[in-house]
Amino acid sequence: MPIDATAPYDDQNIFAKILRGEIPNKTVYEDEYALAFHDINPQAPHHILVIPKGAYVSWDDFSANAPETEIAGFIRAVGKVAREAGLVEPGYRLLANVGMDAHQEVPHLHVHIFAGRKLGPMLAQD
Ligand code: 5GP
Repeated sequence: MPIDATAPYDDQNIFAKILRGEIPNKTVYEDEYALAFHDINPQAPHHILVIPKGAYVSWDDFSANAPETEIAGFIRAVGKVAREAGLVEPGYRLLANVGMDAHQEVPHLHVHIFAGRKLGPMLAQD
């Protein structure tokens, strides 16, 4: 079910549980600001999720409310994960779904990294 990106942060969401170590994950990278792990239902040969350590519902919440150190740390982590996975060439796609129309399902900010095949048009046509 897509979530309302303007709702308050729910600390029982699945990624909050992953951050607390209550649910296992296949970690790719971790630092002070971010955790990166393999998506449980990959949509491409490489499908990595990068989440901030702080409690932010969405990109909207994060970009409006996170301190600049956390924003810089998170953005650098996303780039580093892709770079260290060798994805810069031939390329990768970043995606952050925000709210209902974008079909955001987990109410903790996550950036998807997709790579490993031709990724097709930017959006599905319907
Ligand atoms: P959204 O639609 O919110 O942008 O994407 C949520 C993503 O989280 C989906 O790609 C889904 O497969 C992934 N996901 C949901 N639950 C889990 C989980 O427990 N572990 C992992 N690794 N990924 C999850």
